[in-house]
Amino acid sequence: MSTPNNLPIKIYRTDDTVELSIIWEIFNKCNYNCSYCFSYGHHDKKINVTLEHAICFIDRIVDHYMAKLNYKKIIISITGGEPTIWKDLVPLCEYAYSKNIYVGITSNGSAPIIFWEKHSHFFDFICLSYHPEHCSPVDFVEKYKVICAQKNTVLPAARIMMHRQHNYWERSIKVYEMIKQLANYQVECVAIQKKCTNNTWLFIPYESETMNDFIKNTKFEFHLSDHLIFRPPEALFNHKLLRQNYNIEKLIPNDLINEHSNKFTNWSCHIGLEQLFINASGEIYRATCLQGDLVGLLKNCKDIPFPSQPIICKKEFCHCTSDISISKSTHID
Ligand code: SF4
Ligand code: SF4
Repeated sequence: MSTPNNLPIKIYRTDDTVELSIIWEIFNKCNYNCSYCFSYGHHDKKINVTLEHAICFIDRIVDHYMAKLNYKKIIISITGGEPTIWKDLVPLCEYAYSKNIYVGITSNGSAPIIFWEKHSHFFDFICLSYHPEHCSPVDFVEKYKVICAQKNTVLPAARIMMHRQHNYWERSIKVYEMIKQLANYQVECVAIQKKCTNNTWLFIPYESETMNDFIKNTKFEFHLSDHLIFRPPEALFNHKLLRQNYNIEKLIPNDLINEHSNKFTNWSCHIGLEQLFINASGEIYRATCLQGDLVGLLKNCKDIPFPSQPIICKKEFCHCTSDISISKSTHID
């Protein structure tokens, strides 16, 4: 928990960390319908993206960030909706790889086992989110184990959505406990935040102190007892956090949210330089927080004026773990 003298004052990336992270909400269609879903509400769910536009955008990234700015490490983090329902997901990944771009995925894990058997090796990170309204604890953990058992695959991270309703909360707790009995795992418990107007997010306390304490005190956990069976992950997300008391620690963004230290108003922030966000409508922004102007449109990918300067944050909260990871500091740089 943050106290006045250990508040964050700087977040920065280490040399081996990705220089550009592209968060791509590829579409908002999903086979689940979670009550807390923030993917454009529950109406207007469709697949707008085309493989042609996606490839054109990747070519622009290669031209601008790799060829002109000499970036070496770029990752596309594919999210949704549920990305695995898109027929062109695999061709998109193949194209990105052909350009030396890393690809990660956030999925609800519902794709059939054969999908994971054939394609798990594609991804440089796999984030498997647990949604208790739609999946039993046993089914989720079984799928997690299937992915862990694939050859040449990174250790997946389980992101457990901590539902506010008691019966679903219990299911999430069950998943948390079952995952922690495995020999190898990464797991974190994610508080459900409330999306307000103007893309602002609020942490609303849970109904019981027990739940609130669990959220505050449960940190990201990583356990690897069999190093040989997993592809060692690249050091893609090695960000550091400097606190007011000069302590430096590895940044775990979800832990900052859970301790309510995700407030960077008036900080200088490198979105657009280290991050881009594409929403389900094909609009390109600097980050999921939508700070700064619209950068461009996927369908007009040949005409995207990529940002060249950091911006000053005007948001009260930085809600998204990817946004939190972007370099930022209390000083203008
Ligand atoms: S799985 Fe994710 S994208 Fe799908 S409905 Fe649930 S929260 Fe929304
Ligand atoms: S809300 Fe946006 S601009 Fe503000 S700190 Fe987070 S990523 Fe940066």
